[in-house]
Amino acid sequence: MVPRFAERMRNLGTETAFEVLAKAKALEKQGKSIVHLEIGEPDFDTPKNIKEAAMKAMNTGYTHYTPAAGIPEFREAIAEYISKTRKIPVSPDEVVVTPGAKPIIFFSILAYVNPGEEVLYVNPGFPMYESVANFVDAKTVPIPLLEENDFRADPEYIKSKITKKTKMIIINSPENPTGGVLTKEDLEIIADSIANRDDILVLSDEIYSRIIYEGIHHSIASLPAMKEKTIILDGFSKTYAMTGWRLGYGIMQKDLAQKVTQLMINSNSCTSAFTQMAGIEALKGPQADAEKMVAEFKRRREVIVEGLNKIKGFSCKKPHGAFYVFPNIKKTGKTGRELSDYLLNTAGVATLSGTAFGRFGEGYLRLSFANSVENIQKALTRISEAIGNL
Ligand code: PLP
Repeated sequence: MVPRFAERMRNLGTETAFEVLAKAKALEKQGKSIVHLEIGEPDFDTPKNIKEAAMKAMNTGYTHYTPAAGIPEFREAIAEYISKTRKIPVSPDEVVVTPGAKPIIFFSILAYVNPGEEVLYVNPGFPMYESVANFVDAKTVPIPLLEENDFRADPEYIKSKITKKTKMIIINSPENPTGGVLTKEDLEIIADSIANRDDILVLSDEIYSRIIYEGIHHSIASLPAMKEKTIILDGFSKTYAMTGWRLGYGIMQKDLAQKVTQLMINSNSCTSAFTQMAGIEALKGPQADAEKMVAEFKRRREVIVEGLNKIKGFSCKKPHGAFYVFPNIKKTGKTGRELSDYLLNTAGVATLSGTAFGRFGEGYLRLSFANSVENIQKALTRISEAIGNL
């Protein structure tokens, strides 16, 4: 019998990174050597003080349900951290803790966007933006990120796409997959374009806010009158190498926080208790390990950008943040999908086609440099040889 799934499942997308990872693992099982540049997670271990805080919490009774929006002490620590880093007053009841930051995307769209309403989102961009907007039957309006604009969203384009039906604008800086970083001026124009609209919310994905190589991170929430119109998404996966812990949060106006909490009650009940306690240590404890990771990513960025630019048909801009490069591969004469399949099967290098992040990603590949310099060099040699054989 073929099961009849709910109609809505037709609209839900996926994250190709996990599919390519599965394919690469299958090849490894057959004995092939693979360099993994497909998945977006730091290769470092979680800092020791954070692991110890989790163990201590586990041994002192933090093994039960917690309030759905998070342990009060943790929400307070997050409110304090965001108040300090974004220079806005945040209170704990504007914080919702979730298992990873992904549910903030899912829940805020589910809670705020009706079928037929419009969601603007960066493209190429994190695939969940489009996927979840489609899932709720919203009208999806991609904001193209162009290489000639240093992969920054063009605020004038955003302005031109705002209609009566616009409900949400999703931005991400530093950006996955391009490494683009929005300037304060970009954010000011975006803010200005919705100055007379109280019904539009900006979902500002700031998960890479601490992984930035030039300048400083600016949050749109810090601009005048924007705090109430912004949902800040942030978390621990990238900054503290905690992808498997599943720990993230959103900062949003109280009313929305209550709706998102209701969605937490209906899905997860709460985020793991000892993980939340470890989150307090992450925010309040020493930051040296997190800073060391960024310094190492910066070193690797030089190696991968320089190496890719020497490969025939590739040209690669330096990303300003996050840990991905997004080389232009148009001159190889292959599509992104063809080239990433070829590199996986022929060279044993797992990458993603730019189209895994939306249609404006055609002509590009995404490679993660959250891998050792040694592995990056191995990948570069293999790609170079494979391209020579095209
Ligand atoms: N947003 C962006 C742009 C990301 O790249 C990721 C992870 O890949 C997330 C959000 C979600 O992170 P997590 O759910 O692991 O906290």
